[in-house]
Parts: sequence; C-alpha cells; structure tokens
Amino acid sequence: MSLNKQKLYNIIIIGGGPAGLTAAHKLATKGNKVQLFEAGNEVGGLSRSFDLWGQRVDCGPHRFFSSDKIVNDYFKEIIKEDYTVVNRLTRIFYQNKFFYYPLQIKNVLANLSLLTMSQILFTYILQRISPIKNPITFDEWVTNRFGKKLFTIFFKNYSEKLWGIPCSKIDADFAAQRIKKLSLWEALKGAIFGNKENKHKTLVDHFAYPNQGTGMLYNRIAEQFQLAGGELKLQSPVKRVLQNEEGTVIGVELVNGETYLADIVISTMPLTLMVKSLQNIPNTVLESCNKLYYRNTILVYLEIDSIHLFPDNWIYVHSPDVLHGRITNFRNWSPDLYGNKQTTILCLEYWCFDNDEIWKKDEAEMGRLGERELRSMKLIKPTDKVLNTHLLQIPKCYPVYEAGYTEPLSIIRDYLQNIQNLIVIGRYGSFKYNNQDHSILMGLLAARQIETNENQDLWSINTDSEYQEKGVVEYE
Ligand SMILES: Cc1cc2nc3c(=O)[nH]c(=O)nc-3n(C[C@H](O)[C@H](O)[C@H](O)COP(=O)(O)OP(=O)(O)OC[C@H]3O[C@@H](n4cnc5c(N)ncnc54)[C@H](O)[C@@H]3O)c2cc1C
Repeated sequence: MSLNKQKLYNIIIIGGGPAGLTAAHKLATKGNKVQLFEAGNEVGGLSRSFDLWGQRVDCGPHRFFSSDKIVNDYFKEIIKEDYTVVNRLTRIFYQNKFFYYPLQIKNVLANLSLLTMSQILFTYILQRISPIKNPITFDEWVTNRFGKKLFTIFFKNYSEKLWGIPCSKIDADFAAQRIKKLSLWEALKGAIFGNKENKHKTLVDHFAYPNQGTGMLYNRIAEQFQLAGGELKLQSPVKRVLQNEEGTVIGVELVNGETYLADIVISTMPLTLMVKSLQNIPNTVLESCNKLYYRNTILVYLEIDSIHLFPDNWIYVHSPDVLHGRITNFRNWSPDLYGNKQTTILCLEYWCFDNDEIWKKDEAEMGRLGERELRSMKLIKPTDKVLNTHLLQIPKCYPVYEAGYTEPLSIIRDYLQNIQNLIVIGRYGSFKYNNQDHSILMGLLAARQIETNENQDLWSINTDSEYQEKGVVEYE
C-alpha cells in the first residue's frame, strides 16, 4: 500500500470487534475521519458482554492475556483500575475425573492408573527415539511432542469436537501457534516443582479481567472513538467493498444499498465473503476462498438456582460422552457480573457446521440437552433447578486450519496485497485463530501502518514466535 506520510484520510472500518474498534479509535485520535460500520446492534464482536437475567455474561470464557507491551499498555490505558485480578482455576473433565490444569502430580497420579502412566511414559520415550520427520498434521505434531498416549487422553477428543475433522486433517500450524516448546518433561517438571516463574503463557494462574465483563473494554474504546470524532454506525452490515475501474478501493456498499466513499477501507468481516464480493477476482482466488471454511459455535446459557456449583472459571470437557466441549461458570470471574443475584449462570459450548442437525435445534431443545449433560457429569445436583435457558448461535466462529489451508490463504493474501488501500485484519477478517490480544495488536498496527506508511507485516501476527503459546494446548 502506498500512502502519503502524515496525511489525514477518510477511513471506513468494517466490524466493531476488538480489531476494528482498536484501529478506529487510534486513527480517529490522530484526526482522520473514521466511520465504523458494525453489523450487530452492539460493539465488541465475539468479545462483547451482555445482560442476562439481571447479570452480565460474555460469549463463553474470555481471559485477557498478552505478552506484548503495547497491547497491555493499551488495555491499561482504557480499563484503568476497573479490573479484577482473577485467580484462574481451570480443569479438564475426562473419564468422569477432573485433571487440574496446569497438571498437579498428586492429582494426575490419583486419576490415572499405573498402566496408563506407564503407557504415557513408554509412548513418549518411543516417540523421542523415533520421531515423525516433518510433522504436517496436528496429531503428528502433538504425538511427536507428547507421545501417542498423552495425545489420545488430552488432545484428540477435544480437538475433534472443536474442529469437527479428525486430528490427522488438522494443520500442524494450529499446534505450532498454540503450543510451543513444552514437552512432557517440562509439563512434569511444572507439575512437580510448580511453575513459579510463570514461564509458560498457558500456565499463567491469574489474569486481569474488566469488572463488568470483557466487553467493558470494547464499550469504552467505542466511547473514546466517538469522543475523538469517529462515527459509529450499528446495525449497518457491509455487503461489499467498492472499487474503481483500476481496482483501487473507493468505499463500501451496505446491505441496505447505501454507499459510502473512503480513501482506505479496513475490513474485519469474514475474509472469504469480503474477497468474493470484490470485482473481477481471478478464478484461482475464488477457488481459494471456496477451500477455506469456518466452524460455528452454539452457546447455551443456563441459570441455576444455586451459587455453589464448582470453583472453576471454565472446564474443558474432553469426555466423548457429552457433546459440549467447554463450560464457563460466570460466578467465578468478577463479583460485578452477578451483583446481589443468588443464582449462577453457566455457559456450555457446542461446535458444528451449518448442515449439522444440532445447528437447527431451538432454544428449548438445546436447554434440555445442556441440562441433561450437566446432570450426567454431576456438575449440578439433582435438587438444583434450571431456571432459564438462553441460546446464542455464532456462525463462522472459528477459522478451520485444515491441513494445507495455508496454500489457498497465501493465494488470497498475495492477491489482496495488490489492491490499493484495503487492509484486512482480525479473526474472521484475516482467517486467523486470534485471541483478543492478537486482534487488538492487528488493530494497533494497522493504524500505525496508515500513520507511518510503513508496512507492519500484519499477516505475521499470531504466527511468529512472539505470539506463540508455550504450554499444553489452550483453545482460546
Ligand atoms: C467462545 C469463545 C471464547 C473465547 N475466549 C477467549 C479468551 O479466553 N481470550 C481471548 O483473548 N480471546 C478469546 N476468544 C477470541 C476473541 O473473542 C476474538 O479473538 C476476538 O473477539 C476477535 O476480534 P475481531 O475484532 O478480530 O473479530 P470479532 O470479535 O469477530 O469482531 C468482528 C466484528 O465484525 C462484525 N461484522 C462481521 N461481518 C460484518 C459486515 N459484513 N459488516 C459489518 N460488520 C461485520 C461482527 O458483527 C463483529 O462485531 C474467544 C472466542 C470465543 C468464540
């Protein structure tokens, strides 16, 4: 992209999630004319918080964590002192047992038989002696690192529930982005001696959480964006990005037919949809879009008439006996979420594709399924009542890293690099399995790219070693 240094621009941003809002805020503060179009009726995207039965909830668990100073500084600049330090407790539910995460040696010994422990050690040693050369799939990568048995216990079921494809078809990139150098030996060392230095990102045992939910951060960014002169347009889904005859971007068209002109467009809408809406795209690019796909999420919120259910912030459910994969307990985050209410809101996560039967189920059916599964896991007592159910369906929630996905993605990326004044960022936007911090960083760097006219290598965020997780795999 070639822009004049220090010039002020007329900029359109598509999407008011963490990536779009951050870029919008920074650019408006510098005096640019910025219009942000958000499809929904509130900001925050997947990281929004909302009122439910007199309490506040997020879209599943939202722990904020970054090792990047500029992201942490930005968080502090916006949230100031209005956060709670949450002592994180997360466990894995597998074969009707709870495994503390990070692993605790006593708990592991109590939960696994001697035979299973020996199998873990044996398959680990075997793998060290004869590793798979150049692992390209998730199962190869994880097996190399942890051995076959540990892969089967702690990775396989959960990953297959989440992605809906066998681990042998998931790209090793996913593991490489989320797990770095932690080996079985390091995990055991952590379990025996503790993880005092907080050396591994995923083993961090506390985190800062905005008092009124993760979305508080984004509501504040939106306020500051508007104070800086930015225009926020809710319920304004963008249909397509407009180009002139030379292919240069000139603005956007909304679903309602209105058009708006701009010098620069930053898009965080689903990458494949945005690209397909461009004019005269070559067949190779179109075919590449058709090769990339997303996974949907179904969130089932249940209000239970008890305040003492279980102590975890969230539980990973590896057990194949139930369909959901994770449960959040909003009672264990910040007291401001529940105030004086004497009930607990739980959120169960299910993952599926558009054609799966479960995607068509209504609120009542999903509520019954959720309740049945919670009772079968004994997470609520027979006497606990489910008072209310709420269903939230999130399409295109996870970009699927099917083995080989980088090839079509790089064709799309190369094509976009030739289009003047169009920047794609964010989780949907750049087809990256981003956390909040990655999307915020993309937003900050996109703004810097426009300000300085220096390429910020936005595509490398959440792929290079700076952003890799070290530790046992963590799914958000
Ligand atoms: C269940 C769950 C748990 C998670 N847990 C964590 C966690 O613990 N920690 C963490 O850091 N992250 C977590 N995340 C990830 C986090 O939510 C995302 O990384 C973050 O919200 C991505 O920000 P974004 O701006 O890139 O995209 P989004 O949040 O997806 O925002 C994109 C926005 O664009 C809008 N949009 C889409 N299409 C259009 C259009 N055509 N026109 C206008 N607007 C459009 C959408 O409505 C949305 O508001 C979790 C996500 C999920 C689903």
